[in-house]
Amino acid sequence: MKSQLEFRANSAHLLLTLTDSEFTMKPAPFDYLTPQTLGEAVALLERFDNEGEDAKIIAGGQSLMPMLAMRIARPKVLIDLRRIAGLDYIREEAGVIAIGAMASKRSAEESDLIRNSQPLFHAATSLVGHRQIRNRGSVGGSFAHSDPASEYPAVALVLDMQMKAVGPGGERLIPADEFFVTYMTTSLEASEILTEVRMPVLPAGTGWAIQEFARRNGDLALAGVALSLRIEGGVCRQVRMAAFGVNPTAVRLPAGEAALEGQAPDAAAFARAAAAAAAALEEPMSCIHAPGEYRRHLVKTLAERCLVEAAGRAR
Ligand SMILES: Cc1cc2nc3c(=O)[nH]c(=O)nc-3n(C[C@H](O)[C@H](O)[C@H](O)COP(=O)(O)OP(=O)(O)OC[C@H]3O[C@@H](n4cnc5c(N)ncnc54)[C@H](O)[C@@H]3O)c2cc1C
Repeated sequence: MKSQLEFRANSAHLLLTLTDSEFTMKPAPFDYLTPQTLGEAVALLERFDNEGEDAKIIAGGQSLMPMLAMRIARPKVLIDLRRIAGLDYIREEAGVIAIGAMASKRSAEESDLIRNSQPLFHAATSLVGHRQIRNRGSVGGSFAHSDPASEYPAVALVLDMQMKAVGPGGERLIPADEFFVTYMTTSLEASEILTEVRMPVLPAGTGWAIQEFARRNGDLALAGVALSLRIEGGVCRQVRMAAFGVNPTAVRLPAGEAALEGQAPDAAAFARAAAAAAAALEEPMSCIHAPGEYRRHLVKTLAERCLVEAAGRAR
């Protein structure tokens, strides 16, 4: 039997043909390089790209290693970022929280700055996998991996985050709504490295919530919702909602946002907004774990619960 897997990562589009005998727990052979500086790492990526060789960054390895082991990815070269100093900071710069790509998710979870100043990102981090995965997995790796079921892309859309990328041409900032392209594909170029993610400090009086449903604790979610809102003059304002696990990448929920904007924060308005958000979802993904219509139902239920929770915080 042959199965076709179409896998996209970091703008590289690989069409892989796997036979049963190739499903294995041993990666295909690869070279392993450990640059000491960011410049060295970018130069390596550029060189291999020019030579038409498939080189991949490895950060925490929590997503890439299983893909190598299953031979879903077969890069010729792995370029490890862990020897590069100074990519694991978490700091505030004039109202913006900047997280170095190699900061672990565990360090983000333990950061008082993130807990106090950006609680939505903090809550999302605590939902990622298990503690062991958060210990090893980097924050930047989750953004670059762009898993449709990952919490971070949805939070990035809600918070209008920006991603800093460094490549042969220098540095650029990419807004969240341009960064996540589709299933495991970002707008990073082949020779670019994600070095930082940036998010605003949450303004006082902003309510937020993130909820997800997974079959087992620590699994990637079947569906989830993240959102924020304010209550001004007795009505909801600045409503931002996003869903994950439902489409090939996280999506804003504009119909839900519009339904709640300017409405009194009560149960009926929350139910209407959640129903509008779910109804407008385009072709929710189906798989053996959950049909698309079940995912739509989850979005409605989770959005309604999130709105109640966020309104409570906003008050
Ligand atoms: C059992 C299990 C449960 C999990 N549950 C969740 C979950 O609930 N939510 C969730 O979001 N994730 C989950 N994950 C994934 C986990 O969060 C990974 O840590 C994360 O997806 C990747 O981070 P990493 O540092 O391990 O990256 P790696 O695995 O090293 O790399 C992942 C990909 O990103 C690229 N990459 C990494 N860093 C960079 C960079 N700085 N610049 C450019 N490209 C880069 C790599 O080339 C690779 O393609 C789970 C993983 C496991 C094994």
